[in-house]
Amino acid sequence: MSSRLVLVINCGSSSIKFAVREEDTSQPLLSGLAERLGTPQATLEWRLGDHKHEEPLGEADHTQAMARLLPLIGEHTSQPLAAVGHRVVHGGEHFTGARLIDDEVIAAIDASAPLAPLHNPANLTGIRAAMELLPDVQQVAIFDTAFHQSMPAHAYRYALPDDLYAVHGVRRYGFHGTSHQYVTNQASLLTGRQFGHGAWLSAHLGNGCSSCAVLDGKSLDTSMGLTPLEGLVMGTRSGDVDPNLHAHLARTLGWDLPRIEQLLNRESGLLGLSGLSNDMRQLEQAREDGHHGAHLAIEVFCYRLARSLAGLAVALPRLDGLIFTGGIGENSALVRALTLRHLAILGLHIDPDANSRLPRGQAGAVHRSGSPAILVIPTDEERQIADESLSLIDQLRNQS
Ligand code: ADP
Repeated sequence: MSSRLVLVINCGSSSIKFAVREEDTSQPLLSGLAERLGTPQATLEWRLGDHKHEEPLGEADHTQAMARLLPLIGEHTSQPLAAVGHRVVHGGEHFTGARLIDDEVIAAIDASAPLAPLHNPANLTGIRAAMELLPDVQQVAIFDTAFHQSMPAHAYRYALPDDLYAVHGVRRYGFHGTSHQYVTNQASLLTGRQFGHGAWLSAHLGNGCSSCAVLDGKSLDTSMGLTPLEGLVMGTRSGDVDPNLHAHLARTLGWDLPRIEQLLNRESGLLGLSGLSNDMRQLEQAREDGHHGAHLAIEVFCYRLARSLAGLAVALPRLDGLIFTGGIGENSALVRALTLRHLAILGLHIDPDANSRLPRGQAGAVHRSGSPAILVIPTDEERQIADESLSLIDQLRNQS
């Protein structure tokens, strides 16, 4: 049987990121981004092998952009799509894994929209457009939150009155589940374990950052909570602050909620601390040049990451290893080294030469002998979405 094709779709409010993934291959066959949708500047950019193309889309909306990219996919593939895998940010408590999309699933994604007001409606737009244009292809939803549904209540409950949880769903959900699941599975393979096995701490460090404790393929705790603002220092997000900060800013500066949300989500994190940039590459350069803010931002980022990882370690019965992933985790030897300075308490010791020599974009081990593994593993959320879509379809076929 030739290997099957999955179209992976990640829809934002004005963009569609897409990739056609072939079963069991590491590179996308075709990938691209339609952005600025709904404006006169809408464009479609796509890459096939080494070739990059760009074309204007007029004022296309999501459905019109999808109507353009589907024939494009048809032109460059030799077989029909086996599935469309949609990334959905928030599944609330409805979903513990991938689901074939039907009216009930659409209603549940809609019902979770108050928890992810920017993301879930955009995800639904993409789902509706794909269902309209590809009515005969099975459509699968993969949720960022689903992997963390295995967390025990003592990890996911806030110390708030019960009604807020029972009636209003206020609890910790966690995000980046697809990435934490993918890299911990890869870690099991890299260290010669049975697929998915092992006791891992995982640090996904991109523009958004989260850490996670995973035991034998199950998330036991993670740093993000009700929303993706909780936890680590991120590019522009503050991560944890005193919850009384809202009241303090309202009382002392007269700030309203939108102003405070803007502060915590868009003006804080690496950007706020450094006063310079949210981009780790730029901050590393500025730190080299003696920029005080950049130095401080990187120190706080690494210390708070280490503190989170050490805290999450209590969820595990032992520690087989720590995984770095995401643009920063995969590429910044400095962040890995500075974070590990604070983690001797877990017996973790980095090998400075292996750490600085690891080629960018490659998986590898950077620990000293005698230490639990310290692994750098490039994440591949699209691969994970494609694999989960196909295995759900196989499972459903076998049941029928
Ligand atoms: P997103 O969460 O948007 O997918 P990425 O995973 O691409 O983001 O991560 C973006 C971050 O990775 C940025 O802070 C960027 O500066 C950082 N990064 C990328 N390459 C390097 C590098 N070579 N050294 C340090 N940081 C890097």
